[in-house]
Amino acid sequence: MRARPKPAARGGIALRRPRTEDDLLTGLPLRTRFVADAGRELAREPGAPAALLCLDVDRLKTVNGVLGYEAGDSLLLGLAQRLAQLRTTVGVRCGRLSGGTFVALVPLADAQGWRTAVSQLQAVLNHRQLWHGQTLDLTVSIGVALHPDHGLGTETLLQRAEQAMFEAKRLRTEVALYDPEFEADRLSHLSLLSELETAIADGQLRQFLQPKLGVADQRLASVEALVRWQHPVRGWLPPSEFVPFAESTGRIRQITQWMLEQAIATLARWRAEGREAPPIAVNISTLDLQDGLLPARIEALLSRAGVPAELLQLELTETGLMASTQDPIHVMHSLRRLGVRLAIDDFGTGQSSLAYLQRLPVHELKIDRSFVDGVDQDAKRQELLGSIITLGHGLGLQVSAEGVENAAELAVLKRLGCDLVQGYLLAKPMDVARFEAWMEPAALAL
Ligand code: C2E
Ligand code: MG
Ligand code: MG
Repeated sequence: MRARPKPAARGGIALRRPRTEDDLLTGLPLRTRFVADAGRELAREPGAPAALLCLDVDRLKTVNGVLGYEAGDSLLLGLAQRLAQLRTTVGVRCGRLSGGTFVALVPLADAQGWRTAVSQLQAVLNHRQLWHGQTLDLTVSIGVALHPDHGLGTETLLQRAEQAMFEAKRLRTEVALYDPEFEADRLSHLSLLSELETAIADGQLRQFLQPKLGVADQRLASVEALVRWQHPVRGWLPPSEFVPFAESTGRIRQITQWMLEQAIATLARWRAEGREAPPIAVNISTLDLQDGLLPARIEALLSRAGVPAELLQLELTETGLMASTQDPIHVMHSLRRLGVRLAIDDFGTGQSSLAYLQRLPVHELKIDRSFVDGVDQDAKRQELLGSIITLGHGLGLQVSAEGVENAAELAVLKRLGCDLVQGYLLAKPMDVARFEAWMEPAALAL
């Protein structure tokens, strides 16, 4: 028989010796044993309130990718150790489901007690670790399913807690309680996804355009293309209804291809009509960046339409870049060599390190709208926004801000030296015809 490695003693953490149904790294029970043990515990007192928690370590992929798997393992061990302590102190039963996903069964005095229990867990679990001189902040996203309200069996509860955890990640709320509506939403999104292919072929997608203006010269600097779906039954659908699901199933590539064709066709038409065409920015997803053929496809589309590459911009979200399983940088370099302009979208939400940012061959940093919202009323946030703008300029990048909704926010951005602004204050996304009408007298008094 092959000798099993000693129970995890790495990083100074010693957990008890694992059994075969236990995880070798952390010593915690794996899924099968957890389900059996938790099932027995729940069956002992059938009506007793309890919360089943699905906990997923945030940014584990980033830590693995940037600092290496040993750093990731060290985070997981830190978390496992804290979970194991909770077993002795408050009777929480824990297990490891996979990768950075853990599970915990928490006894409750009553169903309402779940919030307090989760806060107590968060206080223990979210912590800071030092790893070879690097500070690693460990936080977890938590999905909660309640026994007996959301199910009696451990498998059902586990599946529901997992669904809630995905919702917490998607909405970036840290914690989400299972809601039967999730299931209805999931089914509705699934049926939308199956209709997407027809939607593209039947011309149900629309290109909307929203301008970005220079703060200093008040001129139209570029336009962002945003997809809308004019669904024959459900009416106008915003991207939030289908883009995230298209991303998780790979269908996003069809949307990207469609949008690139539309944007390039619009640019070609503007040029043919002798208009002074602003560049158009197209949003692309993480999956697109893993497609080594993307630069060649874009080059072919541009040359077929006779549109210079400088007129096309691509926006890549910071979280997308960080979540990329392959290093997206070489595709980005090929795109840049083509002459396409690159921007990091929703900057500030993805926690990229300065070292990583420096490696990205981008031209523009687009600050997420959460930093702009109400910034005029909060001196601390103005300081933060100012630091991001200084950071972008320090890296030699143009800095833009999205979601500018009122004059006071705009005044702050102007004072802090932001280069470009986009938002409802200046113009909402419009269909192409309305945008063209808007573009004529586009000089706005900022
Ligand atoms: P994004 O790229 O960050 O786009 C900006 C979003 O902010 C747009 O939402 C826009 O309508 C909205 N917005 C603009 N100004 C304001 C404002 O002043 N206040 C507020 N509250 N919102 C403002 P939209 O069109 O719903 O798009 C949402 C996201 O969907 C986009 O975020 C982008 O990530 C994604 N998306 C849109 N079109 C495409 C596409 O063709 N392909 C891909 N991959 N993603 C797309
Ligand atoms: Mg964008
Ligand atoms: Mg954005």
